[in-house]
Amino acid sequence: MQKKFYITTPIYYPSANFHIGHCYSTIIADSIARYKRLDGYDTYFLTGSDEHGQKIEKKAEEAGLSPKDYVDKIVENAKDLWKSLGITYDRFIRTTDKDHVEIVQKIFKKLYDQGDIYKGEYKGLYCTPCESFWTETQLVNGKCPDCGRDVQEVSEEAYFLRLSKYQKRLEEYIDSHSDFILPESRKNEMINNFLKPGLEDLCVSRTSFSWGIPVTFDEKHVIYVWLDALSNYITALGYLTDDDEKFKKYWPADVHIVGKEIVRFHTIIWPIILMALDLPLPHKVFGHGWLIVEGNKISKSLGNYKDPREYVDKYGVDAVRYFVLREIPFGNDGNFSEEALVNRINSDLANIWGNLVNRTIGMANKYFDGKVTNKNVLENIDEEFIEKINVLKSNVDEKIEGLQISKALEDIFELLRSSNKYIDDVMPWVLAKDEEKRDYLETVLYNIMEAIRVTGIMLKPFMPNSASKVFEQINTDKNTFSDTKYISDIEYDVVKTPEPLFQRIVYKQD
Ligand SMILES: [Zn+2]
Repeated sequence: MQKKFYITTPIYYPSANFHIGHCYSTIIADSIARYKRLDGYDTYFLTGSDEHGQKIEKKAEEAGLSPKDYVDKIVENAKDLWKSLGITYDRFIRTTDKDHVEIVQKIFKKLYDQGDIYKGEYKGLYCTPCESFWTETQLVNGKCPDCGRDVQEVSEEAYFLRLSKYQKRLEEYIDSHSDFILPESRKNEMINNFLKPGLEDLCVSRTSFSWGIPVTFDEKHVIYVWLDALSNYITALGYLTDDDEKFKKYWPADVHIVGKEIVRFHTIIWPIILMALDLPLPHKVFGHGWLIVEGNKISKSLGNYKDPREYVDKYGVDAVRYFVLREIPFGNDGNFSEEALVNRINSDLANIWGNLVNRTIGMANKYFDGKVTNKNVLENIDEEFIEKINVLKSNVDEKIEGLQISKALEDIFELLRSSNKYIDDVMPWVLAKDEEKRDYLETVLYNIMEAIRVTGIMLKPFMPNSASKVFEQINTDKNTFSDTKYISDIEYDVVKTPEPLFQRIVYKQD
């Protein structure tokens, strides 16, 4: 039976102003999904948008639109952004989708019927003119952060989810599943900051606004954010419907990719919802760091906001994807600046990858009229080099399994770097002067072609366009994940004029 793989990104609060930092989860998830597909997994990749709540309701009102018309407009923007970044999701779920709405209502009812949701009273700080509840920490100098007026302590009727009931089971689960929360540091954070102090029951409905999914048996209530949003991971698969084939096949998720700011919801609230529904928990929740953009202060008003599509248009989608994936080490934050992006393009993509492909095709043409076969004349240095080619796939597999995407790319670029060094060590241009070294020269070029071929395959999930350019130039159909070992009998016939994969760029500030 074919192995399955289910990966998700967070669903985003719709915004017309996504910046490059917002693209990280989606680019990482896309690369892993592409990797698994190429590796033979039956893969399902889910992303989407989280469209309910008071904030949207207010923004829509300001724009003179109904909430649905308002979100329809910005969702198109998000979809266009993902398209420009080459994101290959299987479904873009919207929390306003009919199937999602109906299933969330069923989930709410089920949890209520079995006693895991109960009616209580929500106490909060309320600004009457703004019709908004605030928490203590959201207040600015004790006043409403939106209008600066006084707030009053008010209580409203609300439904609550019994988190406390499942606390012990969740603790045991986290203890016995060391891979559930990654990286380790976030797991400790969750245990010490949230589980140890004890869980309070979670408010899961509101009556103070109406833009949400109505509670079917108490219609003045709408279902409040987390129960609605988190459930998308199972509603998208048809959970609790007649058409639940996808749910049966793909659940539990293999990985939820989330930003570190929402790890808590995914490793405490979500598992408890699943336990209450008697469903298995996801295998891994990966809380990645942030891509800090130019010191984190980025906004249209500061004048430093750039739509990510501007970088894609200027430098190409593969360069943007590579930068984002390469720059954020496992679980930590990374920094983005346009200058750093240009430096990466020059140092890694043009100088290492592009240069290797270009010079090798050049030599193949110069010495063998573009036709290179394996003459099997091997010395130690060649055997060591071939060994490096042969272990690449399993090394990268291991990194992907541990969600160490930056390290996976490092492994691939290490082989590209070694290939350039191999050329410098063996010096084909010296061999070319010696008629007796003809077969050895061809073998050397063949070995480099093999390194280009295997790295080209391995880079497909991350930089799909540039990888296919490589295969157009080296002309071989041995380009799948089952061809990632050194093959000894390819008859290479390369293009006459190599086209550079990446141009070197001189950075100029706007
Ligand atoms: Zn106010």
